[in-house]
Amino acid sequence: MSQAPSNPITNLSAGEHPLPSYLQSDNLGPWGNYLQQVDRVIPHLGSLARWAETLKRPKRVLIVDVPIHMDDGTVAHFEGYRVQHNVSRGPGKGGVRFHQDVTLSEVMALSAWMSVKNAAVNVPYGGAKGGIRVDPKKLSRGELERMTRRYTSEIGIIIGPNKDIPAPDVNTNEQIMAWMMDTYSMNTGSTATGVVTGKPVDLGGSLGRREATGRGVYTVGAEAARHIGLEISGSRLAVQGFGNVGGVAGKLFADAGALVVAVQDHGGTIYREAGLDVPALLRHVAEHGSVGGFPQAEVLANDSFWDVDCDILIPAALEQQITAANAHRIKARMIIEGANGPTTPAADDILRDRNVLVLPDVIANAGGVTVSYFEWVQDFSSFFWDEEEINARLVKIMKDAFAGVWNVAQEQKVSLRTATFIVACKRILHTRELRGLYP
Ligand code: GLU
Repeated sequence: MSQAPSNPITNLSAGEHPLPSYLQSDNLGPWGNYLQQVDRVIPHLGSLARWAETLKRPKRVLIVDVPIHMDDGTVAHFEGYRVQHNVSRGPGKGGVRFHQDVTLSEVMALSAWMSVKNAAVNVPYGGAKGGIRVDPKKLSRGELERMTRRYTSEIGIIIGPNKDIPAPDVNTNEQIMAWMMDTYSMNTGSTATGVVTGKPVDLGGSLGRREATGRGVYTVGAEAARHIGLEISGSRLAVQGFGNVGGVAGKLFADAGALVVAVQDHGGTIYREAGLDVPALLRHVAEHGSVGGFPQAEVLANDSFWDVDCDILIPAALEQQITAANAHRIKARMIIEGANGPTTPAADDILRDRNVLVLPDVIANAGGVTVSYFEWVQDFSSFFWDEEEINARLVKIMKDAFAGVWNVAQEQKVSLRTATFIVACKRILHTRELRGLYP
């Protein structure tokens, strides 16, 4: 058989468009999982499917060296990333995480999930994400500040209030956003509050932003529970990760009468049959940095977390926690993904067969970026809203978006994840088509 002549410019045969190696799905962790999720939605995109490859390629990937002076006089280098997955619908938007396991594959996936999430709740943003591979708990406050500032300076060539707007994520907070805002403002010569969201309220931040992701998790969870006839009051909850997302969501569920029976974080796994005292646990975490050592609870082996008898499971930590290895053990009727990417595609299939309802990250944890959008709008208009208005608008957006996704899932007989991808990817690719290719 004769081979088709290859094009001397691209070195490819006609019709051959292999993805660059770093974009292929095998063994690529979170990015590979994301690519599988995209493949599941393509058959549902109709004529927009011709643009689908856009979703499989990040628009822009920046890898930066972040050298800093350590307190002991040495120089340390950290690897940082900022990935803009798609900006068809508006500037890039998404958090920055500091974690020892951050990789390019992870940041690419997180940036792509931001594109989908932002389109799912219809805020006028594309998707982006950043991160530094570092264990920030090992840095002094001065080292953390120098690293944050140098990283901000390095990614300063692609971020900006109208280009790409970072926000908090795992191990980053209001103080880090304040340093990022200040560094960008120093470099550009004027105070630019709109360059990051999740800032302190006294620095152009928004009321309600800190609680917004957890509040969104609760809102979507309560809506879904109604659909499947699950009573929140008296239901049993297991939560993985008890920080800004899991802690707030756990508190709101407990306020609604749920029993938070198990909590796991990097400090261990705790359990109380009659329900943990959530306010006391939140105080313990604020003081000690993890749930480890909380006195009014039994300690479980970490792996036993997946066997806990519960109605609702909220993974609110990191990716790839629910896998083919533990999905069959989960007792919950409903999983609400507070984390990004906690469930692998293989686990999704097992859970679907077992009739466990999964509320996917790309809608369930969209409350954070929704209030980030409110913050950005408030910064631009220099007019700030009260918390009641912010929460009311957040709840309306979350409920409306969830209702739309629920209907698509029913009509097209697909999972809520695929339904959310259908709604979001159609929005992204429709703008892609309207804008056309340049040149
Ligand atoms: N890091 C959050 C997320 O994963 C929030 C992003 C933002 O507010 O831009 O959705």
